[in-house]
Amino acid sequence: MDRFDISIIGGGVIGLAVARTLSTDLRFANKSFVILEQEAQFGQHISSRNSEVIHAGIYYPEDSLKARLCVRGKALLYDYCQKHDIAHKRCGKLIVASDKERDALLALQQQALRNGVSDLELLTAADVRQREPDIKCDLALFSPSSGIVDSHQLMATLLHESEAAGALFARQTRVSGIEFTGKEFLIDTVNTAESGAENYRFASAAIVNCAGLFADKVLAMFDGADQSRLSTTQRPAIHFCKGDYFSYTGAARLNHLVYPMPEANTVGLGIHATIDLGGGIRFGPDAEYVESLDYDIDARKKTTFANAIRRYLPSIKEDDLQPAYSGIRPKLSAAGEAARDFVLLNAAGYELGTDNSRVIHLMGIESPGLTSSLALAEMLADRLSLE
Ligand SMILES: Cc1cc2nc3c(=O)[nH]c(=O)nc-3n(C[C@H](O)[C@H](O)[C@H](O)COP(=O)(O)OP(=O)(O)OC[C@H]3O[C@@H](n4cnc5c(N)ncnc54)[C@H](O)[C@@H]3O)c2cc1C
Repeated sequence: MDRFDISIIGGGVIGLAVARTLSTDLRFANKSFVILEQEAQFGQHISSRNSEVIHAGIYYPEDSLKARLCVRGKALLYDYCQKHDIAHKRCGKLIVASDKERDALLALQQQALRNGVSDLELLTAADVRQREPDIKCDLALFSPSSGIVDSHQLMATLLHESEAAGALFARQTRVSGIEFTGKEFLIDTVNTAESGAENYRFASAAIVNCAGLFADKVLAMFDGADQSRLSTTQRPAIHFCKGDYFSYTGAARLNHLVYPMPEANTVGLGIHATIDLGGGIRFGPDAEYVESLDYDIDARKKTTFANAIRRYLPSIKEDDLQPAYSGIRPKLSAAGEAARDFVLLNAAGYELGTDNSRVIHLMGIESPGLTSSLALAEMLADRLSLE
């Protein structure tokens, strides 16, 4: 039977960042790695369906993994992009508010400070007009360290580095079951390219679950392994929360990312404007809990989008908006529940705490996961044990 030291389930930005970081870390020298991805290409799900924003780390509760990994991940990501010539831009971001939202905006600035983000500037309406003539607001926070990145190029580079360090990328390979022999894990996979293809089974000493929207399904595969003690009701479940995007074809131009104040329940950051590396503008995502994986866009949402955007871009017309794409957030909180942090679990499904583990499940890696990817991988390298 084939054997790998470390199996990484999922070839999105998180799995690829973990593969790249572990395979180039001297502590894992001479170890063998496989990345198991059910699709024909890397990053077909959450990682290619997001805003591609490098977040500063403003919104999240202090000391949360989201806050710490976002701030550290931002620095690592800018360095990585520069070193590997990955297209990116430190374009900065405006969080725009009305006079009525002043206190909430100032509270955001304090939150950012507690998270170690000390470069936010408070701008007047006139300051904003100078930077963005088409934007209307009473005041704003400017975040100079926010930016954008070409996520496809980022993932391609992470994969290239992992493969150069000896990792195997097994595409069209879906993990379908996991057994524990008492010594090692036996992983069953199905070839998704051919119907009725035979299972391929191999052994692995350690496993990192980076399956994104399906991380809870992979966690459930450990039920058969005798380490799994946490009951299904105690175990975190992933809830799908969809966001649609519309591209903009109107005459206004933007130089910065423009965000409204975040939604009160923090399900999403509000329908914001992102610019892409070619200067194009898109709006989104909204937030809607859904039952199934369906990336269709509801074109009827145009009116709701235009109304939300008009608050900061008064010239917007419904006809300026065209359905673009959608993405799905892997939320640990169900509709109406309080926002949750990223969670790391051990084989048995318990929160990792201070122990190291040879199985680590990464759960609820929603935004700012892209920004945090290299920091999360760095943390994994400290926490993954082969014994
Ligand atoms: C609408 C939206 C906007 C966002 N905007 C931003 C942003 O601007 N900035 C930011 O920092 N973050 C953002 N994020 C978050 C960021 O995109 C995610 O945190 C990140 O992409 C998650 O990557 P992942 O690798 O965990 O998931 P994925 O990219 O989904 O990768 C998981 C992979 O696992 C594979 N897989 C699943 N089950 C199996 C199995 N059994 N066998 C084999 N393979 C399997 C899947 O096919 C998939 O390719 C956003 C997310 C959404 C949804």
